[in-house]
Amino acid sequence: MSEQIRELVSLSSRILGAGDQGDLVWGHSSARDPEGRGVWIKAAGWGLEEVTPSRVQLVSPAGEVLEGEGPRHSEYPIHTEIMAARADVGGVVHTHSPYAVALAAAGQELLPVSHAANFFVPPGVPRFTGTADLILTPALGRAVAATLADASAVFLVNHGIVTVGPTLRDATVAAIILERAAYQQWITRGFGTWPTWSDPGESVAKREHIFHPAAVEQVWEYLVRRLPGRA
Ligand SMILES: [Zn+2]
Repeated sequence: MSEQIRELVSLSSRILGAGDQGDLVWGHSSARDPEGRGVWIKAAGWGLEEVTPSRVQLVSPAGEVLEGEGPRHSEYPIHTEIMAARADVGGVVHTHSPYAVALAAAGQELLPVSHAANFFVPPGVPRFTGTADLILTPALGRAVAATLADASAVFLVNHGIVTVGPTLRDATVAAIILERAAYQQWITRGFGTWPTWSDPGESVAKREHIFHPAAVEQVWEYLVRRLPGRA
């Protein structure tokens, strides 16, 4: 079991790295421990694209490293506190994905100007503005979880993004799609005129048609095949 979950976190990390969501050695994704001991998350000090199964560790809600080697990420409460607040969440991603961070810092709402943002809108991506500093304490983790509420993503304004899903596969695909949505919005704005976008009813229909569970699974498998050395 632990080999499978280490492999899952490794693949998620490498996909996020290949998706240019890495910020040197920062950013991490996690899977809920099926035995309720905490989260499986990459060790600190590695870039996302460098995460092998042996560089994944099990971290308790109190921040203890229960299995695995190396230093632990200081922002583990993002993962442990969201999982405590959301029984439906099995995977959490936190990265500093550049276009999504820029969009939130610019004070813009995410708009469904193409397919991608319909993954999140409605209700949209809430904005956590309690601090732009690191999420170092369980109290801050709970505050992020409260802002996330029932959504699948939250902007940590001037810092990063968090995406969640029933599994780490879903949360990883969500992070990739959020960055694509922000990029699409940026290039749309580049034309200078006021864009059009889907109304909420159309967004919900598009989400059902485009981002249904089987499609998300296909996207995950595609992203795995695209990793260096796979296919
Ligand atoms: Zn961060």
